[in-house]
Parts: sequence; C-alpha cells; structure tokens
Amino acid sequence: MNAPLIDPFARAIRYLRVSVTDRCDFRCTYCMAEHMTFLPKAELLTLEELDRLCTAFVHMGVEKLRITGGEPLVRKGIMTFFRAMSRHLDSGALKELTLTTNGSQLARFAQELVDCGIRRINVSLDTLDPAKFAEITRWGRLPQVLDGIEAAKAAGLRVKINAVALKGFNEDELFPLVDWCAREGHDLTFIEVMPMGDLGGEDRLSQYWALTDLRARLAERFALTDLAERTGGPARYVRLEETGQKIGFITPLTHNFCESCNRVRLTCTGELYMCLGQEDMADLRAPLRASPDDAGLEQAIRAAIARKPKGHDFDYSRQAIAGQMTRHMSHTGG
Ligand code: SAM
Ligand code: SF4
Repeated sequence: MNAPLIDPFARAIRYLRVSVTDRCDFRCTYCMAEHMTFLPKAELLTLEELDRLCTAFVHMGVEKLRITGGEPLVRKGIMTFFRAMSRHLDSGALKELTLTTNGSQLARFAQELVDCGIRRINVSLDTLDPAKFAEITRWGRLPQVLDGIEAAKAAGLRVKINAVALKGFNEDELFPLVDWCAREGHDLTFIEVMPMGDLGGEDRLSQYWALTDLRARLAERFALTDLAERTGGPARYVRLEETGQKIGFITPLTHNFCESCNRVRLTCTGELYMCLGQEDMADLRAPLRASPDDAGLEQAIRAAIARKPKGHDFDYSRQAIAGQMTRHMSHTGG
C-alpha cells in the first residue's frame, strides 16, 4: 500500500463518498428543483473509471466507501460496480462498503447488495405519511420505499433512517418516526437542512428546524444520554434510555464538526471536493484519462488532500444564510 493520505490539519483521510450519478427518480424539494438540468451522460465517469479512481483511494488508505448520488441505484449497471468493489472487502483493504439511497429500488437490489458484502445502508425517509411523502419527494411513493426497506431488512441489511428536519413539515412526526424505528429495529439520524443548490424559490430559512430544538422535544418524553461515539463524521449520538435506541444528529449549522473530518467526496464527473461546504475542488478526470498508469492520478489526489480546508462556513445566524453553496447535494453526494 502507498503512504496514507494526511491533510494539513493532520487528519487522516480514510473515508471516500462517491456520487455515481446526479440523476434521481425523486425530486425532494430541499434537494432539487422539479425541472433539474442533469449532466450530459457523456460527462459521467464510466463504471470502469469509477473503479480505477476508488481503487486508487483504497491503495492510499481509504477504508470506507459510501456510494451515493443522486440516487445510486438508478445508475445503469451499478451492481457491476458494487461487485467489483467487493474485491477490496475480500482483500481486507476496505473495511466497509455501503450506500445512501432513497429506497425506491431496494426491493430489487437488496439481496444483490448483501451478496456484494454490504452490511449496512442509509435510507432517507423524512415522513411516514403517504401524502406528505409525495409532497416532499414530488415523484416518490411511500409504499414503494417501505417495501424496499422491508426487503433490505429481510435480506439481513442493517438500516439507518436519515430524516431531514423540516420546520412545519415533519415537526409533528418526531415521535411517530422514533417509535416506528424502535419497532422496526432501525437506527435513526436527523439532519439539519443545508444551504445547497438553487431550488428556484424554496426558502431555506423557513425550512430550517434547528436540531437543538428537536433534541429538547425528544427530552420531554425520553431520558437522553450523550454517547461518546464518533464516526469521524458530523453525527453526534444519544441513547433513549426507555427504548435503548440510538439517535443521531447531524448539525452542520448549530455545531461545527469539522475538526474530526476524515472524508472527501468524489462527484460522478471526477471532481474531488475536499469539503462539502467549500467550492474548492480538484479535477481527477483529466489525470485519470491522461494515462493508464496511476502515477499522475495519485499525485493529483495527494495535491488535492494537501489543500483540504479546515472547515465549512455555513451559518444561519442573524436570520440570513451565509456560506450558501451553488452546487446541489445530488452533485457532490449527500
Ligand atoms: N438519493 C439518495 C438519498 O436520498 O438518500 C442519496 C443522495 S441524497 C443527496 C443524500 C442525503 O442528502 C439524503 O439523506 C437527503 O435527505 C440529504 N439532503 C439532500 N439535500 C439536502 C439539504 N439541502 N440539506 C440537508 N440534507 C440534504
Ligand atoms: Fe433524490 Fe436523494 Fe435528492 Fe431526494 S435527496 S432528490 S432522493 S438525491
């Protein structure tokens, strides 16, 4: 193995998130405009190129690979890619291969994912109300997603539900979501809405529900114990003493989590973002295509990691959005 990737703040980069497509079969209102312009297919890295890139990162010490998008399971041939990546699990170089999905295609793919060595998945689900689900995802249907989650569970996958906390939308579903996850045995993490992408008129400040408030409401019904557990990521966890459930909070806005950041993000066109909340990126597609040898690519990766910034600048204080990003979450991969 090559020398590990260490950034200027002595953080070892062991986690790569890869967006394999910017396309999606849903149009969540906080993520995309209804009539999104997607990238021309020719701009996308091929599955072979994605394999070569991910493999280069694995050789430089990346131990965890999360596949995301857009909706990763709508990319044609994606199972070929998962199967190929599973060789790094078999060799022991990769400790975890996983994905974040909207769940719409899980009924079809859950078993194959297990066969590729995937053990845990994140499924995004903001509401258990079918009408509200159709409203927030615009094109999604709740029963299809619930069937997908059921199939994942039946196949033996551990499921973590990610719910974006949205003011005036799912505030009243806090306890139903918690209770449902307890019954089904799913972990649950809440996410603060982030200022990503131009959504054509959606008002971010009005959507923003601070997790400090959500947590205070949880504490009205449950005894919360803070857990020391850190994944190197933004989530902080509590245990609900009454049920034993673990609940995560991803709070980019109320708390900054950058000091322990161990991750970088690769887009489906080969751009490497060293921070979700900064514009700086490195183009890896050019060195990838310039030569079948990986030396230039590895050099470009190291040069990029040497520029990883200390943190993001998102801030909703003073009732105005600072640090707003023009890219969509579906581009960088949430
Ligand atoms: N389509 C897949 C899904 O929905 O799980 C994977 C990609 S999606 C961009 C990844 C995650 O980002 C989802 O959990 C979604 O809720 C979240 N997300 C999208 N836009 C967001 C935003 N503006 N703020 C916070 N989370 C967002
Ligand atoms: Fe698609 Fe996921 Fe974005 Fe929703 S959050 S539009 S499912 S990429």
